[in-house]
Amino acid sequence: MQGWRLAQGASFLYGLLPMGIVDGRGRCINYARISVTDRCNYRCVYCMPEEGVKSRAHADIMRYEDILWLSRILVSLGIRHIRFTGGEPLVRRGMADFLVSFREEFPGLDISMTTNASLLPSFAGTIERARLSGMNISLDTLDSDKFAHMTRLGDISDVMSGIASAAERGIPNIKTNTVVMRGFNEHDLPDIVKFSWSHGLIPRMIEFMPMRGNLWGRETFVPSAEIFDLLKPMGDWELEGNAEKKTACGPAKYYRNAHNGLKVGVIEAISNHFCSECNRLRITAAGNMRACLFNNAETPLLPAIRDMDEAAAREAILTGIALKPRKWNDAADGVSHMSDIGG
Ligand code: SAM
Ligand code: SF4
Repeated sequence: MQGWRLAQGASFLYGLLPMGIVDGRGRCINYARISVTDRCNYRCVYCMPEEGVKSRAHADIMRYEDILWLSRILVSLGIRHIRFTGGEPLVRRGMADFLVSFREEFPGLDISMTTNASLLPSFAGTIERARLSGMNISLDTLDSDKFAHMTRLGDISDVMSGIASAAERGIPNIKTNTVVMRGFNEHDLPDIVKFSWSHGLIPRMIEFMPMRGNLWGRETFVPSAEIFDLLKPMGDWELEGNAEKKTACGPAKYYRNAHNGLKVGVIEAISNHFCSECNRLRITAAGNMRACLFNNAETPLLPAIRDMDEAAAREAILTGIALKPRKWNDAADGVSHMSDIGG
């Protein structure tokens, strides 16, 4: 144990341990999701309003050198996995090259990215050199009309080309992410699962989460039990050995198909939320830290980053972690758009 300290303004102790930061509720925080942009070339119905969101000026978002500097501090505090997300990370100019230099800086770190894959055909060659640990690709349907409807601006053929180029470049551990919405794509799940399996990808079904003004409601929400029912016709499923106890690697429960041994993940973000084991923190493109997706409390890191004040940055990160709530609050309609926080 490296030491204990009392967070300013917080009423409990937390510690810095070799495996990460342990907060006052015993959760080991070792995973950071960094949004590199709040912009996106899509407007998915579950994520962004049709008109888009007001993008921040370039001066107000973290520069690549800011992200590098901040990441050194995060890693020194015990963060072991950094995922880049957005908005769409690949709409930011220089992102693929940045991933390569980020890997050079952190040769042993788990580095991954979440993307809609539409721009991967242009960047997969460069990204290959970043030796990512994994990539998550959003895929909500295989039907081109539904895809256009759900993403508002998307063309499924771009995503198919993106998936093919990622696979050709040997990017490992690719997962597809499907946000399940009643009336949109709930009957497409078996086809998505078969498609993902046939391309060597791991499909994951995500419960639709309420964000500001995003159509979430009784009519559109599909609980995990029903998601699982929709997959039942594909054969018998077994819950993976340690899946009941969700791991530090993520909140998904994995089920293995008894016939072919292939698996599918289900992320029960709402019906069985994983707050007691949440190991993550999020940093928005503007450099604000959020310890909980569903809680608006943000700790600004940008001033410390721009001053390159290490002590202030550490203090801000630890103070922000101390604000991580025990459980998500239900006032979710007030929280930001997913694209703003970095899903
Ligand atoms: N643009 C990239 C993409 O679409 O993969 C990365 C950013 S996106 C905000 C990250 C993830 O959040 C995606 O897998 C997306 O499906 C998920 N997401 C966005 N809004 C969501 C919501 N309301 N409920 C559940 N997942 C959501
Ligand atoms: Fe863009 Fe990803 Fe949000 Fe869709 S889910 S609007 S692709 S940030």
